[in-house]
Amino acid sequence: MSRDDASLRVTVIGAGYLGLTHAVCMAELGHQVLALDVDSEKLAKAAAGEAPFFEPGLESLLRKNLDSGGLRFTTSFAEAGGFGDAHFLCVGTPQAADGRADLSYVHSAAGALAPHLTADCLIVGKSTVPVGTARQVLGRVRAAAPAGNLVDLAWNPEFLREGLAVQDSLSPDRIVLGVTSSRAAELLRRVYAAPLAAGVPALVMDLETAELVKVAANAFLATKVSFINVMAEMCEAAGADVMQLAEALGHDERIGRRFLSPGLGFGGGCLPKDIRAFRATASALGVSSLASLLGTVDTINLDRRTRVIALAREAAGGDLAGKRVAVLGVAFKPNSDDIRDSPSLDICERLAAEGAAVSVHDPVALPNAARKRPDLRCAGSVSEAAERADVVLHLTEWSDYRAIDPGALARVVARPVLVDARCALDAGLWRAAGWHVLMPGRPSVPPGTPSLRVPDAAGYTR
Ligand code: NAD
Repeated sequence: MSRDDASLRVTVIGAGYLGLTHAVCMAELGHQVLALDVDSEKLAKAAAGEAPFFEPGLESLLRKNLDSGGLRFTTSFAEAGGFGDAHFLCVGTPQAADGRADLSYVHSAAGALAPHLTADCLIVGKSTVPVGTARQVLGRVRAAAPAGNLVDLAWNPEFLREGLAVQDSLSPDRIVLGVTSSRAAELLRRVYAAPLAAGVPALVMDLETAELVKVAANAFLATKVSFINVMAEMCEAAGADVMQLAEALGHDERIGRRFLSPGLGFGGGCLPKDIRAFRATASALGVSSLASLLGTVDTINLDRRTRVIALAREAAGGDLAGKRVAVLGVAFKPNSDDIRDSPSLDICERLAAEGAAVSVHDPVALPNAARKRPDLRCAGSVSEAAERADVVLHLTEWSDYRAIDPGALARVVARPVLVDARCALDAGLWRAAGWHVLMPGRPSVPPGTPSLRVPDAAGYTR
C-alpha cells in the first residue's frame, strides 16, 4: 500500500450487478481496475464492452473505460492477488434454504485470493453480510495469506439501487467505512477521493456497525413498504383511498413520500433475502423483537401477491380458469432486467396454476424471465400481450406503461378490465376510455369516472 499518486490499483472480485458497476465506476474515478469473476461467459461479454445485464448508463461507461485501458478482466486469482492495493469483495450472498445468508461465495472468493496476497493490501467487503462475517473473513485470510497480518480488512457496504446504479456508485448518499485501522480508513479515503471532495459524507466506524448499517437500512425500507401496504388493507376495509393517505403522510417531512407506494410490495435480489437473513441473525443473537418485526414485514409483503391475485380473480368474474390474462412487467422493478424474487413472476406462475392463459410483456426482462420459466408466453409488445385478454395486470411500473393509450388498448382486449397492482397508472384516463380499473387499497369506481387528482411519478398531485 504505497504510491503517492491519486490512482490506485483496485481489484473487484465478483462482477455481477454490484461488482461490475463498482468496477466500471472505480475506473471512472481514475483507478486502475482489474475485475475478476468465476463466470467466464459473463466476463467475456463485459470484456467485449457488453454489459451482461440491463443497467442504464453502464454500458457506455464500461466501453469508455475499456478503451482507455483503465479497466480489465481476469479469471485468475493469482493475477488479482498480485495487482491490487485494495481488493473489493462483491460476490453474491443469496438466501440459504433456512433463510440465513449463504456465505459460501464470500469465503470461497476470500479463500482463493488469500494465498496470492504476498504484500500489504486491503480487502474491502461490499457484499451484504450478517454481522460478524467481516471479522471471520479477516481471521481466515490472515491465516492463509503469505503476507499474514499485513493484510487488512474493511467493510464498505453498498447502497446502490438497480436502475440508478451508476449514479448511486459515483455520487452515493454516504460512504460507510467499517475499519480496524486508520491505515485502512486512509486508503479508502483515497479510493473515494472524488466523491468525498464533492461533499459525500464518509462515516468511519467499526466492522460490526458497518455490516449492520446495510441490513438496518434495508429493514427500514422494507418496513416502510409493508407499513403502507397494511394501510392499503385498512383503506379497503374502511372504504378509504390509500393513495390520498400516502400523499398526505408523505408531506410530513418526518415521514417522507418515498417508499410509501402501496401495491404489490417489494422483491428483487436484495430486500427479501436481506430481511430474512437479518431475521435469522436477530434470532441467533436473541433479539426476538427484531426477528418478530422482520417476520411480520416479510409476511405482509408476501400477502400482497395473494391480494393482487384475488383482485385478478375478481376482475375475471370470480374464476381464472380458462381466462386470458395479460401481464405488464416482469422485472422486480422498472429500469432493470433483474427477475430475482420478482413478485410479477411469482404471480404469473400462480395465475397459470389456476388455469389462466398468461401472456407477459416487459421492456427488457423477458429474456431472463424466459430462461427461468421457458413455458412463459412472452409478447413483443403491450398490444400483443393484451390481445383478447379478459384482464390486464400492471405489475411493474415501467414509465412506458404510463404512456399506453388506454383507448387503443381497449380495442385489442376481450374485456377492458385493468388491475393496477402498482397504483401507478392514471386511473381516470383509463376509466374515461371505458376501462374498469381495480387497485389495491383504492375504492372501486365505475368506468367513465375521472380521477379527482392524478399523482405524478413521485406520487404527489401538487
Ligand atoms: P450477482 O449474483 O449479480 O453477482 C455475484 C457475482 O459473483 C456473480 O457474477 C458470480 O459469478 C460471482 N462469484 C460467485 N462466486 C465467486 C467467486 N468465488 N469468485 C469470484 N466471483 C464469484 O449478485 P449482486 O446483485 O451483484 O450482489 C452481490 C452482493 O452485493 C450481494 O451480497 C448483494 O446483497 C449485495 N448488493 C447488491 C445490490 C444490488 O443492487 N444488486 C446492492 C447492494 C448490495
